[in-house]
Amino acid sequence: MNVSSCFCYNCNTDYPTLTSLSSNNSDKQNLILQICNGIFKAIQNEKTMAEIVCSMSHRQLRNINEVEACINEEFRQLFINNVLRKEINSFLISTWRIRLKWSEFNNDSLIRNLLLISKKWYDPFTSYLQKMNSQKRNKWFYEQNGDEGILNNLKEHLPGFKYLIEYTWRQSYYNCYGGFVFASDSGIFIEVTVNARNGRRFQASENFEGKYVTLLRATYNYDEDDSEKATLEFIHDNDEIIMQFLKEIYNNNSLQRYNNNNRIETNSLQRYDNNRNVALLRDEQIEQIAEIAAGAVVGIAAVAAVAGVGYLAYKAATNKTVRRTATAINYGYLAYSLIQKLEKENERERNDNDD
Ligand SMILES: [Zn+2]
Repeated sequence: MNVSSCFCYNCNTDYPTLTSLSSNNSDKQNLILQICNGIFKAIQNEKTMAEIVCSMSHRQLRNINEVEACINEEFRQLFINNVLRKEINSFLISTWRIRLKWSEFNNDSLIRNLLLISKKWYDPFTSYLQKMNSQKRNKWFYEQNGDEGILNNLKEHLPGFKYLIEYTWRQSYYNCYGGFVFASDSGIFIEVTVNARNGRRFQASENFEGKYVTLLRATYNYDEDDSEKATLEFIHDNDEIIMQFLKEIYNNNSLQRYNNNNRIETNSLQRYDNNRNVALLRDEQIEQIAEIAAGAVVGIAAVAAVAGVGYLAYKAATNKTVRRTATAINYGYLAYSLIQKLEKENERERNDNDD
């Protein structure tokens, strides 16, 4: 059984924390990020149980009660809704073993909640990522004479992965290939191999495994002269699902900002948001969504993610073409048309009942 090293900001970056407040929370940050990371890794491997052996090296969480209180506070909603179950044992001095279990049927709300929790606790890292990003982008600008073609293409496929952390890139008259690592605000990183040569995947020089991040892996096939045909494929299905939820959270944030100026849409979305967490969609509704999806030429996967039935519906959508199209979709528009359709149906039902 491996005890991971500390995941806190101070133990993982060369830059000191800006405020003393956040370093008072090092053990807490370590504990929460390790739990998020442990569950994400288990989901990547299609498991429904995670075991985390976690050492508190800052002497801030000193006993099992403090550890448990911290976990209860942050993951409360998941325990209340029975999405997650836990078991905590003392393991060694200042080291605890935490077992977490869930059902595959709950993967949707689990992933969405973990992304939000980890975004909150990952926040101190973002200034560090910003710095790395501007260094790498300056270097890229200089080396590529300002040509951002491939970066812009990847950006379209991967909204939310804002920070360029590492890259290798070769471009000639005949072909181009290489790899990139991008980071998000939630501790989810992605390693993208572009035009893999002889089937070899790009490997980041920094080993992120066992560190403070969850690493997704994808390949991108890209032809400069025909970028419309580019395809992004994930090595593991569940990596793609995690990415879709990250995208949803990122787009919802942008959508919310947008909607502050568009009151009518906001009201509609608000009602939808209020309902979606409570009501599980019925089978017929999933079919309706699929129908709308077909109309919008996007595919069930993307819409299902918006509607909060993502995981299972997504699993069902095995058609690669559909999935490819789904990665390029405008969620805001889709969510809105979905709401409108569901509201019209509800109204029709109400009217029918009145007759
Ligand atoms: Zn630490």
